Amino acid sequence: MSRVYNFSAGPAVLPEEVLREAAEEMTDYKGTGMSVMEMSHRSKPFQEILETAEADIRELMGIPDNYKVLFLQGGASTQFAMIPMNLMKNGVADYIVTGQFAKKACKEAQKYGKIHVVASSEDKTFSYIPDCSDLPISEDADYVYICENNTIYGTKFKELPNTKGKPLVADVSSCFLSEPVDVEKYGLIYGGVQKNVGPAGMAIVIIREDLIREDVLAGTPTMLTYKIHADAGSLYNTPPAYSIYMCGKVFRWLKRQGGLAAMKEHNEKKAKILYDYLDESKMFRSTVDPKDRSVMNVTFVTGDESLDAKFVKEAKEAGLESLKGHRSVGGMRASIYNAMPVAGVEALVAFMRKFEEENL
Ligand SMILES: *Cc1c(COP(=O)(O)O)cnc(C)c1O
Repeated sequence: MSRVYNFSAGPAVLPEEVLREAAEEMTDYKGTGMSVMEMSHRSKPFQEILETAEADIRELMGIPDNYKVLFLQGGASTQFAMIPMNLMKNGVADYIVTGQFAKKACKEAQKYGKIHVVASSEDKTFSYIPDCSDLPISEDADYVYICENNTIYGTKFKELPNTKGKPLVADVSSCFLSEPVDVEKYGLIYGGVQKNVGPAGMAIVIIREDLIREDVLAGTPTMLTYKIHADAGSLYNTPPAYSIYMCGKVFRWLKRQGGLAAMKEHNEKKAKILYDYLDESKMFRSTVDPKDRSVMNVTFVTGDESLDAKFVKEAKEAGLESLKGHRSVGGMRASIYNAMPVAGVEALVAFMRKFEEENL
């Protein structure tokens, strides 16, 4: 059975090299006589896996020493609650709503404090990123929240908002490790790893130390307290051990590719191939404002729902998987994360050209 080109938004394609390594180590990890899934999280081999993973992500992203890296359970969505519970001092936060995940995070935060939506692109079905250069940031906002890459709508912040000195909190689930990042511009960066890094179920949180506090919101569960996990080095309880192991392998793979600068080049090359075709096609069109286009999630339509469905079905038959748009928006979406080779995007565009010729 050969592998397909998998354009799923998440869980998503992982580097084949990494999967093969993991397969090789499946029943006997480096002479331990057991799988990583079977070993104590307090054992020496696992300690080493965890420490190496942290060191590698620190190197890849250039994470300064005054930021902690936490490997946490509960995917990205648990952070929707954890962020307000841990970061609210004044009980006020500002949210920029550019898609469903930002909206969900905003709604969750409303349970814990006073939330201001300081910008939104919902008026045009989230097809653009609002101008965030001079927003009415609340005087007493504990943080300003964004979803940096909007997985469902295919938009990305090309410039970070001017938070007027307030800590910026960013959900980077679908653009994690896709390009170099200036960590110091953020108070907290987090992402679910199943989009661009590893297996589902884990979030990586990169948080500036001064935002890790003891006096969190009353009633905050121990497991949802950053300080607990930070003090325990992500080993307060059993961590998502296999997910950490797989992410560690992906970090190593990224380093072998030349790090995040090389990834950015690789990703922009793929996105250009696809967007250039969309811009010239008479059948397909991009659904997003050109200035805000995501390099990771490319959304497009034909304008005819039945033709969209036919395209998705025939693409699947041709080995191009999971091109259906999110159930809330329809159309198509090609997620072209780090592990998607250029050949995958070329195969997609070749198929689209052929489909266009046959169906126009
Ligand atoms: C997928 C996704 C989430 C939700 O992730 P879960 O791990 O399923 O909770 C949140 N934010 C963004 C940007 C996503 O793409």
